Amino acid sequence: MFNPLLVLRQWFRHLARKRGAAVSQAVGNRPFLTGIAGTLIATAMAGLTLATLYSGRTDALNHARETSANLVSLISSDLARNVEIYDLSLQEIVHRSQEPTVWHLPDDLRRTVLFDRATLAAYLGGAYVVDEHGVLKATQEGPVNKNVRFDDRDYFVVHQRNPSAGLFVSHPFRSRLRERELSFALSRRIDARDGSFAGVALLAVRIAYLQRLLDKVNTGRDGTAFILLEDGTVLARKPYAEAIIGVDVDRYPQYQVVHSGTAGSFIDDSPIDHVRRIYSYAHVPDTPLVVIVAPALDDVLAPWRKRSAVAGALTFTLGAVVVLVCWMLAFALRDKVRAQTRLAELAATDPLTRLSNRRTLDRHLDEEWRRARRNGAVLSVLFIDIDHFKRFNDTYGHAAGDEVLTAVADCIASVARRSIDVVARYGGEEFAVVLPDLGASAAANSAEKVRRGVEALRIRQLPAVTVSVGCATGRPADGRNAQELLAAADAQLYTAKAAGRNQVQGVDWTQAPPDGLSDHTDPEKRHA
Ligand code: GH3
Ligand code: MG
Ligand code: MG
Repeated sequence: MFNPLLVLRQWFRHLARKRGAAVSQAVGNRPFLTGIAGTLIATAMAGLTLATLYSGRTDALNHARETSANLVSLISSDLARNVEIYDLSLQEIVHRSQEPTVWHLPDDLRRTVLFDRATLAAYLGGAYVVDEHGVLKATQEGPVNKNVRFDDRDYFVVHQRNPSAGLFVSHPFRSRLRERELSFALSRRIDARDGSFAGVALLAVRIAYLQRLLDKVNTGRDGTAFILLEDGTVLARKPYAEAIIGVDVDRYPQYQVVHSGTAGSFIDDSPIDHVRRIYSYAHVPDTPLVVIVAPALDDVLAPWRKRSAVAGALTFTLGAVVVLVCWMLAFALRDKVRAQTRLAELAATDPLTRLSNRRTLDRHLDEEWRRARRNGAVLSVLFIDIDHFKRFNDTYGHAAGDEVLTAVADCIASVARRSIDVVARYGGEEFAVVLPDLGASAAANSAEKVRRGVEALRIRQLPAVTVSVGCATGRPADGRNAQELLAAADAQLYTAKAAGRNQVQGVDWTQAPPDGLSDHTDPEKRHA
């Protein structure tokens, strides 16, 4: 009956019995699992650390965005409030200048009536009324210089052409009345009673006001901050650079995104100094102004980079140590397993023929005997001895004798090839073979094959050797033990020797009562 457990056990036994480096290599490779596991764990640790570090970078960027957005919002509300105050003054100037009686008052009184509210505004460069031809009509301070014209200024042209321009914020300019001071103007149109253009009321605000707002903001070492007009004209920039005031940055694609939405952020290289920055922007409500705060990416990420370098180096070093230790352990383990396997092999095999030794044979014989008892199976044993080997040795030397021993061993192994067969060098020039599940005639057949095989062996110019073989077949149920079966085979060998050598003699306990002997001698050999 097919017994899978039995087949598995026999297969394992066959593996264990196999000669060569294959087994020791297969066993020896398993310790590398330690190294592989160590490497995997270290890689996983490194991966986790990398992921954590990367999320730290995202956090740093988000934090910088939030901080910039807050700064933008602060500047923006300051601007919105001040522009509102300036506009109230402007509306008052417009209103009063539309009163004809104002223009008949003495200069001092008219100035007070027209500009009394404007004097309150901080950073005010001057308050003016310009007539419909662009000629100065009234100023907050000093005498009116009628030779200064403003008909070329953008605010004049806008109000002249567009009655509904409302509050207009001009491009930056150099003052014609205040020693070329950099300023920008907030202006409103003055309508005559019939709605026609009667001039412009304007407040000149020093760019320094905007610059002061930006200077209060901490943008880091390489950061910048801007106040732009919506058309892209720079009104103020931190760090301050006179050359950049009035420049139109709208031509740079980097700034185009500022037009989308009321607020936002983006990362890009500066078109001016090529530093990579995180730009956060917002449109100042009810004005054409845009505020941008842009800390440099390197400044923002510097603390994170420092932390990451330390954490990365630590993780890498620790990981490398883990990997190194695991692989050293793996190699040490492999060497140990190999040495153990080799030792076990040496302890189980005969060094000359590499067959099992007597100890291994005895162990396997007992095992097979027990197995045969459980299964009610038969078991055969061969005992093989080289004929007149002492004479051979004396004639051709020990080395030639060793060659013959190896060749005979190979010949026997080639006959008993089943995985469950055990071939052993029993001692000197004697061999024993355990043939599980093999009956007397099959065993005698194998013995005869060995005898003929050895007889046919040709080793260099040495003469052929012969062997005598004793066979014994038994069934454990008969009440004998394994060693008795072996002794019976040995006895048959003795018989074969006595009968003239180079022959097979056998006994089959399964056919005869325990004490009886049955002869399997090859008829040819018996008569030889
Ligand atoms: P018989 O036919 O009766 O068996 O005669 P024999 O000469 O073979 O028997 P004997 O037991 O007298 O001699 C065994 C010889 O086997 C003795 C020794 O020279 C030789 N021998 C034993 N072990 C080795 C070995 O490892 N190498 C070699 N070369 N010879 C061995
Ligand atoms: Mg002998
Ligand atoms: Mg002999």
